[in-house]
Amino acid sequence: MPLSYEEQWSELRRRNRNALIVFVVGMLAVIPIATWLARVAEIHGDAFVLLAVATAWLLAVAFFAFRITRFRCPRCNSLYFSHHGERMSFGHARKCASCGLRVYAQA
Ligand SMILES: [Zn+2]
Repeated sequence: MPLSYEEQWSELRRRNRNALIVFVVGMLAVIPIATWLARVAEIHGDAFVLLAVATAWLLAVAFFAFRITRFRCPRCNSLYFSHHGERMSFGHARKCASCGLRVYAQA
């Protein structure tokens, strides 16, 4: 049984929320985590640890952003934010790139 529009929009909201949390919390936590890791592991190259933690954070942000781009339209089941490989701008994508269904619209 296909999910309702509301359930699918909830999934988009969840993906957006997760990406925002990973971005903001990660930005605030990179330096404390790197400092803590360098101290616990007794690594004397703080810059290396910071680079490794920051890289992990960026990969996490990229993963969660990618999950948003893979969201499928509840109406036409095409990728919501791209049409035939042509991406829409994230900040202004308020409707489906294929069928025009407005974001969070009901059936
Ligand atoms: Zn659509």
